Amino acid sequence: MKTYSIAAIPGDGIGTEVISAGVEVLQALAKREGNFAFKVDHFDWGGEYYKKHGRMMPANGRDLIRKHDAILFGSAGHPDIPDHITLWGLRLAICQPFDQYANVRPTRVLPGITSPLRSVNDKELDWVIVRENSEGEYAGVGGRVHQGSPLEAATDVAMFTRPGVERIMRFAFRLAQSRPRKLLTVVTKSNAQRHAMVMWDEIAVEISREFPDVTWDKMLVDAMTMRMVIKPQSIDTVVATNLHADILSDLAAALAGSLGIAPTANLNPERAFPSMFEPIHGSAFDIMGKGIANPVGTFWSAVMMLDHLGEAAAGARLMRAIERVTADKRFHTPDLGGTAGTADVTAAVIGAVEGAN
Ligand code: ATP
Ligand code: MG
Repeated sequence: MKTYSIAAIPGDGIGTEVISAGVEVLQALAKREGNFAFKVDHFDWGGEYYKKHGRMMPANGRDLIRKHDAILFGSAGHPDIPDHITLWGLRLAICQPFDQYANVRPTRVLPGITSPLRSVNDKELDWVIVRENSEGEYAGVGGRVHQGSPLEAATDVAMFTRPGVERIMRFAFRLAQSRPRKLLTVVTKSNAQRHAMVMWDEIAVEISREFPDVTWDKMLVDAMTMRMVIKPQSIDTVVATNLHADILSDLAAALAGSLGIAPTANLNPERAFPSMFEPIHGSAFDIMGKGIANPVGTFWSAVMMLDHLGEAAAGARLMRAIERVTADKRFHTPDLGGTAGTADVTAAVIGAVEGAN
């Protein structure tokens, strides 16, 4: 029997609550499937670790998880620690060296969940946003000078490389091609940012020639936010830069009903390193410890992890279980307007996984 090794990094805040729920569901699923197992190793990295050790993860942290088949990540963020330290010290410290350059964010209105867009039902909002995850605006290039003086200045340089743009563009075209509508929107801001964004547009044209069956268009990011709200049915697959897609995918999550249900995969498509799966929400300290965090974003991320591991049938079973549970309003957490707790939703999904099909 195949055993997959999973590195679980719950992180901070509700990250710990949703990851333990996710691991419970994965173990129940493996038992139900019967032909594979999970060996889950937990790593207590994050804000509390930082307070004790002065860093978010140990110096050899990446070596400890390099050989795992996948990483299941909660959230990094702590009210006592600046966000750029928690982000760069843990999440990006894994994503960047493991070259997880394709960040994939499916967005759908799940059964039973109401989109704030009145006109939309569950068939009409079915997107995948592909976020460039290794360079661009979050390349970390820049600096500050003359701190404490009136002449203080700071830069963040958005750095795009041709290979970096080519590989994410090719990934997005391939993903669009694998979906029924074969439709891709390339998002830029090439009217105002006239160097790198123009290169994006040019590379999109070049790569599109490899995918003659994919229909594609390009859109400025500001116009795209409007289109997502006004004509959501016209969108299928989207590719955008690190910053633009970061913003678009929060909007997408909200349009799908809640930040709490949205999943992410940080993929190293070449499989030279493990890929990482996480809900898109953060540590949400306002609801921590109350037992009301919505675990659906983590469960859906686990579906993406199963697909990546080659266990698509198990992933489909878990997705059916999730949808059966969201369809029942008794299992809606407060972010969806309900009164259920994390444990109620988890138990219901496990029940549905163990059910007949
Ligand atoms: P971070 O600083 O780590 O990004 P955050 O405090 O900004 O975390 P987010 O998780 O990004 O919080 O989400 C914003 C708000 O959305 C939270 O304060 C919380 O109220 C709500 N929220 C996010 N995730 C969930 C969830 N899984 N279940 C319920 N509510 C959630
Ligand atoms: Mg946040």
